[in-house]
Amino acid sequence: MRYTEELKKLRELYKTGLFRSEFYKRNLTDIRLLDSYETFSAIPFSYKRDIRNTSVEERTNTSRKDIYGIFSSSGTTGEKTYYIYNRADKKVHEEFVKTFYTELGIDETDIGAVMAPVDTGVMAHTMMWQFTTMGAGYVNCPVPSPENMIETVTKVPVTVIATRPSIASAVAYNPLMQKMAQESGVTKLLMGGGFLSRERRKLLEYSWNAECYNMFGMSEMFGPMAGECRQKNGLHYLNDYLMIEIVDPETGTPLEPGQPGVAVYTTLWEKGFPLLRYWTDDLMVLTDEPCACGSPLPRLFYLGRLGDCFRIGGGYVFPENVEDILFKYGFIGEYAAEKHEGAFRVKTEGNGSGIAPEMKAEMEALFRAPVEIEAVTPGSLNYNGHGKRFTEDTRYE
Ligand SMILES: [Zn+2]
Repeated sequence: MRYTEELKKLRELYKTGLFRSEFYKRNLTDIRLLDSYETFSAIPFSYKRDIRNTSVEERTNTSRKDIYGIFSSSGTTGEKTYYIYNRADKKVHEEFVKTFYTELGIDETDIGAVMAPVDTGVMAHTMMWQFTTMGAGYVNCPVPSPENMIETVTKVPVTVIATRPSIASAVAYNPLMQKMAQESGVTKLLMGGGFLSRERRKLLEYSWNAECYNMFGMSEMFGPMAGECRQKNGLHYLNDYLMIEIVDPETGTPLEPGQPGVAVYTTLWEKGFPLLRYWTDDLMVLTDEPCACGSPLPRLFYLGRLGDCFRIGGGYVFPENVEDILFKYGFIGEYAAEKHEGAFRVKTEGNGSGIAPEMKAEMEALFRAPVEIEAVTPGSLNYNGHGKRFTEDTRYE
């Protein structure tokens, strides 16, 4: 039977009263719903909009003395959402950090640089204590412009950088800064908060002369919940604490292992804000095939966001697929694509050596339609690192 261990844990958690908050008591009305995966999969999904419609206290059973911290989402896509994290959350994420950072060889001899704004959201905070957990020191770079990043790594003996892929790759747009990044003491880049395409990883590793690893998390979870090993072949996740279902994006029906679909999360510890069948909008594929690193942890392959893709010919095209083509032909920089009445237009801030016919052909093969490619002034796309890159007149939601 599927998810036997996970359901057993959920029954134990149910008995502790974890799901008796206002948020869950109407969804999880009876412990018998946790008897089998068949009954479990009848529990309604919960969505981000449900979170927005409830107060922070309605979503938790954590008593004040057990609160570790309260953080908000960045609020870039609307009203801010606040999350309570408790001491159990911190312990679970410490376990995550020790497992993953040990594999990557991060220890007390390292100095981490946290290149993320500290004023909003949970990202900068978790990155700081991830270094502390490993006994490493850290320095903050809260306004991570290319100039400030270079200043940080030249004035401080930084060995590891934690940030978003689009932030760290900005040094590549200026040859002098790229050279300074290459000559710095940075040996590892830990990427969070964004999908890492094959070509962007290549660009980052070249620009910083460092190994680049991807991690994956969300505000709803507190810290990262999946990370790459040295094989860089999928992100391992702690399946003792996180149950991931993959479901059909349109019908919500659970899919067979190995099929791509929307990830639905259920957390398996006494979390400050527990997730129960939480619809993420993230498309991914799971595998429990052994990894060359020897870790027993299963892996996820993150494909992209359901709200930021085009559906073409029964499949999905994600911004990262466009990025792979643009970067390959030297158009490194921000980009966007729009679909209007069946026609596609790709805009790039990159400064490549002319739009080669091969590049146009690859782009048209990707979109299965004619594509107009336009080089625009750097800065004009105003992409902030976590917005949408694709727009269309009839968006698939
Ligand atoms: Zn591995």
